[in-house]
Amino acid sequence: MLIIHIATELAPIAKTGGLGDVVYSLSKELARQGHQLRIILPKYKTLSLDALDDAQIVFKKKFTFHESKPFEVVFWNASYNSLPITLIDPQPPEAVFNRDGIYGEADDAHRFLIFCFLTLEYISFCNFPASILHLHDWPTAAIALLYKHHYQQKGSKHKIVLTIHNILHQGKCPPETLSFLSFNNLSDVEDPCQPYLINLLKIGIIHSDYLTTVSPTYAKEIQTPLFGYHLDPLLRNYRDKLHGILNGIDLDYWNPYLDKALPAPYPKNSITGIFEVKRKNKEYLYNHLHLTSSKAPLFACITRLDEQKGPHLIAHGVKTILKQGGSCIILGKVVSSLTQELFDHLRQTYANHPHFHFHDQFDEGLAKLLYAAADFIIIPSLFEPCGLTQMIAMRYFTIPIVRTTGGLADTVQDLETGICFKEMSTEHFDHAIEKAFSLYQDKPLLEHLLKMMSLKDFSWKTSVKKYLELYSA
Ligand code: ADP
Repeated sequence: MLIIHIATELAPIAKTGGLGDVVYSLSKELARQGHQLRIILPKYKTLSLDALDDAQIVFKKKFTFHESKPFEVVFWNASYNSLPITLIDPQPPEAVFNRDGIYGEADDAHRFLIFCFLTLEYISFCNFPASILHLHDWPTAAIALLYKHHYQQKGSKHKIVLTIHNILHQGKCPPETLSFLSFNNLSDVEDPCQPYLINLLKIGIIHSDYLTTVSPTYAKEIQTPLFGYHLDPLLRNYRDKLHGILNGIDLDYWNPYLDKALPAPYPKNSITGIFEVKRKNKEYLYNHLHLTSSKAPLFACITRLDEQKGPHLIAHGVKTILKQGGSCIILGKVVSSLTQELFDHLRQTYANHPHFHFHDQFDEGLAKLLYAAADFIIIPSLFEPCGLTQMIAMRYFTIPIVRTTGGLADTVQDLETGICFKEMSTEHFDHAIEKAFSLYQDKPLLEHLLKMMSLKDFSWKTSVKKYLELYSA
């Protein structure tokens, strides 16, 4: 069985968040278990061929879309850490992917629909035997319909699985955006709130054979009005094909025992040794960031700073932590104009604070140092489909302080592997932070948490089994 992941991110070469990690680490585990697979990605400007092995052109072909001039597309095959990948590279003048970022362009829906179309052209050209087309989120969801309309009828027999990593993002666009794909009827895929728009995620939900999302709790939550973002009635209709499968992490990449990025690697089989290692990593980090050393606990926050992540609680939490004498480092890229002002203000307020640092960038190296040095990580999300940061943090023995929602509820247990709070309120979050300060003084309880974290299995083994059951169902 050939498994083809069709995605817009692959960590670390094209990553903006957890999607990239998941596509990489899930593929890696499938390959490790002997399954044949391929990952198809757009060839972004930022994705250099130098990062890949054996890059070679498979074929080039000219396409004409609607009224556009014909343009050439180059299809590359290559491998990344032994994973076979295909890159789709539409050439100028249609600079489809030859731009600075991955998302955030006004014509994103159009760009990713072109990617969907070209992916199916590639699959059709290669004449693959019956395989799994595993789609990820709205940018690739339209493949489910496109395949049924134009390719299945020509005799190919692939099964389609769509994973919803975050239902907030649905890919809404005017119907004209799809006109180059020559669908004759788009009547059931209009957006539930703005019926003059087409909803690309809805297309995928209706037309894929199986739907998955990234944790069992989130699978339930998205069927409710509070978390379904207007697609909950549709998901309730399709609940029989919807499965919540918890994400794993790549234990080789996130490996505190062998991580060369760390000034002090972790000791195997010694819970008490972890305190000393954290102390050394913390010292290094404080020096590196010109912060004043402190014996008080260090709280980290590593996240995209958008509405989903509870920005107001994060900003409030910083104040509480600093007031109580703790240190706090935020590694967070502001990705929403709604949160820009809030964090600009926070940064100005604590500009010269000796125990606060704010790094408004995406920086994987600093992320690793921070996971290794921090005592606590704050994750006060409004919703969290799965969340990887709490799992990576627990792997580095950093205690997550989480709001119990989605995958956070499935992976963190209060005073066993972390600190949990329920309500999205400053009082509840403050209470959780106070609990963290007391826990930091309570050595036996602290050791209990570290022990419990060491027993957690964040690998893909169990979840890959569930995906394989779906693939072969
Ligand atoms: P989401 O996918 O919603 O962004 P996840 O918790 O699933 O959240 O995954 C986040 C991933 O992105 C983790 O690997 C985390 O370490 C990483 N990450 C988030 N923000 C940053 C940042 N500013 N710098 C480096 N890594 C980051």
